[in-house]
Amino acid sequence: MSNVNPFKQPGQWYRGNTHSHSTESDGRLPIADRFAAYREAGYDFLVLTDHRKVNDTSNYSEDGFLAISGSEVHPNNPYGGDTYHIVAINIHERINCAELHPNAVIAEIKRQGGEAVLCHPYWCGHTLLDYLPLRDYFALEVYNDTCMGIGKGFSESAWDDLLDRGGPVFGIAADDAHGTEHDCFHGWVMVKAPELTTDAIMDAFRTGAFYSTLGPEITDLTLVEDADQKKRVTVQCSPAQSIVFKGQRSRGRRIVAPEGELLTEAEYEVPSGTKYTRVEITDEAGKKAWSNPFFF
Ligand SMILES: [Zn+2]
Ligand SMILES: [Zn+2]
Repeated sequence: MSNVNPFKQPGQWYRGNTHSHSTESDGRLPIADRFAAYREAGYDFLVLTDHRKVNDTSNYSEDGFLAISGSEVHPNNPYGGDTYHIVAINIHERINCAELHPNAVIAEIKRQGGEAVLCHPYWCGHTLLDYLPLRDYFALEVYNDTCMGIGKGFSESAWDDLLDRGGPVFGIAADDAHGTEHDCFHGWVMVKAPELTTDAIMDAFRTGAFYSTLGPEITDLTLVEDADQKKRVTVQCSPAQSIVFKGQRSRGRRIVAPEGELLTEAEYEVPSGTKYTRVEITDEAGKKAWSNPFFF
């Protein structure tokens, strides 16, 4: 997987949600209303991902707003866990998963020009047993808002497990919007792209040119390698109560703001033997943001 640092890329930031449902599956809003709600909330794009269906979204893009078609597909799981939930971003034909191995489903998503996201690992109860046999997904949902209904929206340790034992994978925060309020507009991605087109957004997804947030802003992220090959990651962000640098297993560091103060930057010297470093920001209200990892 080749990845870029979006903070050093030209382009603009676009706010989007990669996971949403309409009345075409188990969502509460018709397609037009689902897109309108996100457009009116200030989003630049929305991916419609009804279960086992692909809807025509071509009528819902307009100046400054991009409607992307997709699906949430459910291949059988031969590895002991529950059925997979995989979001396919940018596919145009329905995929009949009944007879297909999950890797054949992901291959079909990619054949159509799409990309696959492993959805809400914590809610699914999925572990490495379920995920290690899978290939060619580009991201997992580090946060899924509708899963907060049972308190299982955060899948940070599943992300770290995969980064440690599986390989490079990006993290996405998504609403998985079904309703009209409780699971809308809470988790999103900020994508850096040269223009607001499906091709540009998909390129940005494939190269990790995005970060995920529930509100906090990451304003800069830098990886510097010194002459003596020491690596340093620095981050700048909106006022934060804590900034955490995470690597595999015991590697990482949490920096907490002194009492009565907030942090807007932090620096971390990456220990040798580190496979990846990613950054988590938490603001005063407990809202988080996640950078994608640097892979070493
Ligand atoms: Zn799901
Ligand atoms: Zn869903």
